[in-house]
Amino acid sequence: MHTVRIPKIINFGKDALSQTEYPRNALIVTTVPPELSDKWTSKMGIKDFMLYDKVTPEPSIEDVNAVISQFRDKDPSVLIGLGGGSSMDVVKYAAPEMKKEKILIPTTFGTGAEMTTYCVLKFEGKKKLLREDRFLADMAVVDSYFMDGTPEQVIKNSVCDACAQATEGYDSKIGNDMTRTLCKQAFDILYAAIMEDRPEDYPYGSMLSGMGFGNCSTTLGHALSYVFSNEGVPHGYSLSSCTTVAHKHNRSVFYDRFKEAMEKLGFDRLELKADVSEAADVVMTDRGHLDPNPIPISKGDVVKCLEDIKAGNL
Ligand SMILES: [Zn+2]
Repeated sequence: MHTVRIPKIINFGKDALSQTEYPRNALIVTTVPPELSDKWTSKMGIKDFMLYDKVTPEPSIEDVNAVISQFRDKDPSVLIGLGGGSSMDVVKYAAPEMKKEKILIPTTFGTGAEMTTYCVLKFEGKKKLLREDRFLADMAVVDSYFMDGTPEQVIKNSVCDACAQATEGYDSKIGNDMTRTLCKQAFDILYAAIMEDRPEDYPYGSMLSGMGFGNCSTTLGHALSYVFSNEGVPHGYSLSSCTTVAHKHNRSVFYDRFKEAMEKLGFDRLELKADVSEAADVVMTDRGHLDPNPIPISKGDVVKCLEDIKAGNL
């Protein structure tokens, strides 16, 4: 048997944001200042809502507890996470604690977080990746409206992450026929959108990628990327090289098209300050990504991949 979990309702496409009906007395959770949230809420057409905009970037369980203690007695009809990963992660955790349903509205794209049971929060200063069924959205609203005004570099990094997640997810050993269908369709849409300059299709492709990899896993490319993340390299950017090299190593069916899409987007070569052998030791501890990789990976394989990345030998 296989199980695939996705939100009960998914509203997506042009005008999804304004055509969705939002219940009265909802609590909107966001990180952005009133100038921006005012613009978004009037576009949504939402009435009689409460707003909490004090979520800190890279939020902690304290942010969750602040929402709960401030709003439990006000009995909101539903919690709405409006923003990037930070706002959505706080709502993912807080809503089930308050026994409320949740609506997730991503204003950035790439991670597909609105589709997944993942939640990243800090506990005692340390980031933890949690995965529980109760973190899944009851409704997700995906609209390319928010891409307007997003810096070019951020869009490039985000679509790279979505491509990496879709293709690594397709290759994951813990995937099934349905996750592969979703991941393949996600990459086909993202690839066409990149090659034919249709960025407005990125959020939809990213959403499909989240539905696919969120029900299996990513693999070697993501495992390699975290040693670059540790040196401050943006997640999506690090995957431009890491996932390409991983696909070459795994002989993935996506290698050629993935590489072609990355070349079209245009990324600089990655640098690694850490010693390659020490970095490889760190990568080898990441069993969550290496165990589902389609072929077994040795430390020697990781060293070879890291050296290829450093040399730009993709
Ligand atoms: Zn990722």
